[in-house]
Amino acid sequence: MAGAADAPGAADAPAVDIVSLYPRDMNIYGDSGNVLVIRRRLELYGYRPVVHQINQGDPWPDRADLVLAGGGQDTGQKKIIDDLHARAALLRGLAEDGLPMLVICGMYQLFGEYFETVDGTRLDGIGVLGAYTVGRERRLIGNLTEESGDFGTVIGYENHSGQTFLREGTRPLGRVADRETGNNAEDTHEGARVRNVIGTYLHGSLLPKNPVVADYLIRAAVERRYGGGAAVGAAVPASGAQTEAMRAELARLDDLA
Ligand code: GLN
Repeated sequence: MAGAADAPGAADAPAVDIVSLYPRDMNIYGDSGNVLVIRRRLELYGYRPVVHQINQGDPWPDRADLVLAGGGQDTGQKKIIDDLHARAALLRGLAEDGLPMLVICGMYQLFGEYFETVDGTRLDGIGVLGAYTVGRERRLIGNLTEESGDFGTVIGYENHSGQTFLREGTRPLGRVADRETGNNAEDTHEGARVRNVIGTYLHGSLLPKNPVVADYLIRAAVERRYGGGAAVGAAVPASGAQTEAMRAELARLDDLA
């Protein structure tokens, strides 16, 4: 039944431009699954996703409605850091302007103030999030469950040597019950949020397991581009191009999660 859920005239559907940032060097544990989920759910809501893969040196697209970036080892972070700094003012401006962004693990660390790796290298971050990260010998590894005020229970998998500490006033994504997991081994925070930016350690990939987070990002992107009338999600009607089959497919995906 491939394609059964596609709307007729999908080519005319309103576009949503997604930046997949550093897919070559920052994409471990299947973080690119987040891009697939956003793309598919946008289609099912009656939009036309346009994915721009942006690696080092690539020109920024004319239009960006959503930025997704994955995790990576310290070596991957060192490969992209100069390019990230070259884009820092742009990304800070877009974040300030309400652009939704999801940054996982290694990119979460670099969206903070700095990351001092376990070998003593200091990588300056771009300061979108009020957080800093220090590498430790003991990695935090394992499946994780956190409670988030906006998203309910969020699940995923973490594996990092960097321990992240939030500055006063920075909101975590959620709270973990076990001090030994999450941002660090000292408090119960996991992730960080500012405006529509979400930073988190959770791989999984995150969005297939937590469609409520995917819908938050999609809603923010679509509302910012098309205005309040174009909202998506279970509580509000999606775009006029959405069919009954598409609604059924969304329900099936949510059941799988
Ligand atoms: N290199 C970072 C760390 O280990 C991030 C790892 C990751 O993205 N999973 O802290």
